Amino acid sequence: MAAQFCERCGTKLQERLISDKERKACPACDFVYWGDYSIGVGALVMRDDRLLLVRRSEDPGKGLWTNPGGYCEQTEPLEQTVVREVKEETGVTARVRHIVALRDRAHVIHNLYVVFAMDYVDGEPTPDLVEVDQAGFFTRAEIAHMNVAGLTRWLVEVAYDKSQGGLAADRSPHVTAEGNSLFRVVKH
Ligand SMILES: [Zn+2]
Repeated sequence: MAAQFCERCGTKLQERLISDKERKACPACDFVYWGDYSIGVGALVMRDDRLLLVRRSEDPGKGLWTNPGGYCEQTEPLEQTVVREVKEETGVTARVRHIVALRDRAHVIHNLYVVFAMDYVDGEPTPDLVEVDQAGFFTRAEIAHMNVAGLTRWLVEVAYDKSQGGLAADRSPHVTAEGNSLFRVVKH
């Protein structure tokens, strides 16, 4: 649903031509309603060639096994979100290795889902009993016989692709990044 009022100052939005398209914009400040977007993150956490999966206890996807993940908060960097979601849903501490996959869904809300390969650090999988009712590390053979969500089935292939590289955080970029997180291609 399109916004009616400016989310910064409350003035009624008006249509005007911006970047070659009629868009709702505020006549009183510089706010432009660009559309509705959301960002999710997913985690592929491996331990001894076993992948961490959870069983959803809520819709959408209730009863299906998926990789842990969730939505980013407004001011939360992606890496922080994915570490937090794994910890909250499973009690497992994992460290980001790199970004290995994206799912782009241009729909009513344009959603970008960013998937991280992660290294196990510590903790035994313990479901939060809110979002998920089971959690564990499973072999590829075990996963083949589980009720796994469609996107997760695709990501299982990604997780076990040992040739993969990815986009890793550049911790010391040669430019000033000021509040930006920069990711660049790395080989495996
Ligand atoms: Zn305004």
